[in-house]
Amino acid sequence: MPTDNEFTRILQWPGYRVYQHKIDEKNKILELWVRRKRGNRKLECSGCGRKFDDAYDSNERAVRDLPWSAFQTTVHIEVYRVKCADCGVRIEKVPLLPSKAPFSKRFEDAVGEACESASARQVARRFRLAESTVRSIDLRYLERWAGSRRRPALHQMGVDEIYMGKKGKFLTVVCNLETAEPLWFGRERKKETLNDFLGEELSGRQRRGIEAVCVDMWKPYRLSIEQWLPQCRIVYDKFHVMQHANRAVDEVRRAEFFRQGKRMRELVKGKRWLLLSRWVNLTGGKRQELNQLFALNRKMLKAYLLKESLDRLWTYHYEGAMLNYLERWIDQLRWQRLEPFQNLAKMLLEHLDGILNYCRTKVRLGVVEAVNGNIKSLLRRGRGYQNLRYLLLKAQRMAATRTEFVVFTKAA
Ligand SMILES: [Zn+2]
Repeated sequence: MPTDNEFTRILQWPGYRVYQHKIDEKNKILELWVRRKRGNRKLECSGCGRKFDDAYDSNERAVRDLPWSAFQTTVHIEVYRVKCADCGVRIEKVPLLPSKAPFSKRFEDAVGEACESASARQVARRFRLAESTVRSIDLRYLERWAGSRRRPALHQMGVDEIYMGKKGKFLTVVCNLETAEPLWFGRERKKETLNDFLGEELSGRQRRGIEAVCVDMWKPYRLSIEQWLPQCRIVYDKFHVMQHANRAVDEVRRAEFFRQGKRMRELVKGKRWLLLSRWVNLTGGKRQELNQLFALNRKMLKAYLLKESLDRLWTYHYEGAMLNYLERWIDQLRWQRLEPFQNLAKMLLEHLDGILNYCRTKVRLGVVEAVNGNIKSLLRRGRGYQNLRYLLLKAQRMAATRTEFVVFTKAA
C-alpha cells in the first residue's frame, strides 16, 4: 500500500501534502485529503492579495481532480479564511482552485482543452459530467485565457453580420483584420449596435488608431463609422460586394425558374449552389451541368458571366484601372434587361469611393469571410451559445490557436 508521502509525490499539488486517503476499488474512486505543507503557511486574501500569518477559520472543500488510472479522483482540501481589514472575512487565495466550483484548476484546464476539438456533449460523456457543467467549465477556462493575454492593437477592422435564424435575428461581428480575430458581438445590426462597440468599448486613442474598416454596403454601419471614426477609410471589400453579386445571380435564377416551363424548372432545380460557385472551383462534371443549363437559358449564362467577371475587379491595384474595369463591366449591362444587375450596378456606383479605397489602403481579403465562417461552424456544431460572451471567447480561442481555420486557409 502506498504511503501518504508517496501519494503526495504523485499528486503534485505545490505546497500541499496528502495526510489521508481512501480507495474505493469497486466504484473506482480515489479520495485524498490534503493540507498545507509546513513551509507553506502564508495565507493570501483572495480579495486584495494581502498576506496573513493567521487564519480566521478553516473549512474543507472537495474538488474533482485529474483521474488516476481508471479512478475518478476527489481531493479534499483544507481552505482557510482570513480576516482582512479591507475585504472582511474572506477566503484565502488558492491557485489550484480557480473558482467556487468543485473542480481543480488542472481538471478545468483538461476539460477546456478537450472542448477545443470536441463538442460539449462529447466532452461531457468522456468526463462523466453534465453538459451544462462542461460549458461552465469551458467558459471559465476561456475567461482565464482571455484575462492572461495581451490584446493586439487594432488598426484595421472588419464589420459583418451573421444571420442567426428567425429567432436570433442578426448578430453584428467586429473583427481585427490583421489578426483575423473576432473582437466583439452585438445583437442586431443597427447603427446603435455598432455605436455600442465604437463608442463604449473603445477608448478615444483606440478609435484614432483605426485606419480602415471593411464593411458591407449597409447604411447603418456606415453612419456609425462616420460618426465615431471620421478619419478612417471605409472599404467595401470583395467579400461583401460579391455577396451582393451572388444575390443578383440568385434573383435572376428565381425569376427564370418561375417564368419558364416545367422542363426548365427541372433543370434549374438544385442548381443554386452551382450558380453561386466560382467556375475555377468546379470540377468538369459540374461545369458540364452548368453548360447544359446555359445552353437553354441565355439569361442565366449572362448573369453567371457578369458575376464571374466582377470578381476580377480586385485584381486591379491602381484606382484608375479599377475604375476603368468597373465602368466597362457596367457597360455590358446595357440592353441585357437583367434588373438585379442594374440594381447592383447602381449600388456599386453609389459606393464607388469605398470600393476604390481598396487601392488606397491595403487590407487583407478573405478575413471577414473566414471569421464569419468560423462563427457559423461553431453555431452549427453546438447549441448553448445563447451566451454571446461564450461564443465570442470560443471564436477568439479558435482564431488564436488556428484550430479548424478551414475557410481561412481556403481563402488565403
Ligand atoms: Zn483583502
